[in-house]
Amino acid sequence: MRISRNHPRFRSLETRERLVRAFQAGVVAPQGLIAHGRGEAFDYLFGEITPKSSQAASRVAAALLLSARNPVISINGNTAALIARDIVRLAHSVPAGLEVNLFHKSVARERRIASLLKRNGASRVFGVNANFRSRVPGVASPRRIVDAEGIGDADVVLIPLEDGDRAEALRKAGKMVIAIDLNPMSRTSRAATITIVDNIIRAIPELVRVIMKMKPLSRTRLSAMVANFDNERNLRRVMKDMIRYMQGWA
Ligand code: ATP
Ligand code: MG
Repeated sequence: MRISRNHPRFRSLETRERLVRAFQAGVVAPQGLIAHGRGEAFDYLFGEITPKSSQAASRVAAALLLSARNPVISINGNTAALIARDIVRLAHSVPAGLEVNLFHKSVARERRIASLLKRNGASRVFGVNANFRSRVPGVASPRRIVDAEGIGDADVVLIPLEDGDRAEALRKAGKMVIAIDLNPMSRTSRAATITIVDNIIRAIPELVRVIMKMKPLSRTRLSAMVANFDNERNLRRVMKDMIRYMQGWA
């Protein structure tokens, strides 16, 4: 379907169309379409903008990525379908590794996602044809299998659109977790070290911008930003931003 640019919900409708096409191409799982719907509902409650509190979380996430030893970005179907080019730019800007890691596992889909990332400029993609695999203890889904050289070895993992179980397990495995999730109440949001409550289609380009700006900062400055951040407190600010927006309607 062609959507007129003048439609008031152009961006949202265009995003849906992208996901549907990616589903037809075997990149997105059917469940991914439903997960997106849940995300959209939360986006509506912020007026589809990035709240100040989430911008603050982005800056701290940038600091953590820039000071990490081996940061890795976990990619699922929705992320690849919606924001492949920017996620590859993000990986280059840090630099960070990219690993395909699916909740609804399928080798064919893993390969399609990896080749989509490569068409968008990725040189190496972990998680596909991995020589060494390792397990994240305490995860029941196939997502527990990770690339030993990718997430297995990472100290910081960026997880756009995760499931709560794995976010918690990654924390228990001693990793720092950056989540991007529109739901400030999800287990993922609560379990992460830093949660950016925002739509990935806005959050990833914003992270690239912030990282480019913060690159010259000293390690001491970066570490201090991370140390001073309190995720629980920030999530409370996010909820207040959401409530304030809704009060405008009430
Ligand atoms: P959890 O398992 O963490 O408690 P959940 O079960 O509610 O969360 P899942 O179905 O596991 O959620 O994953 C979908 C999550 O992804 C939802 O929290 C939804 O808000 C979020 N989400 C979906 N699309 C986007 C998007 N484009 N940008 C950011 N977040 C999104
Ligand atoms: Mg879940």
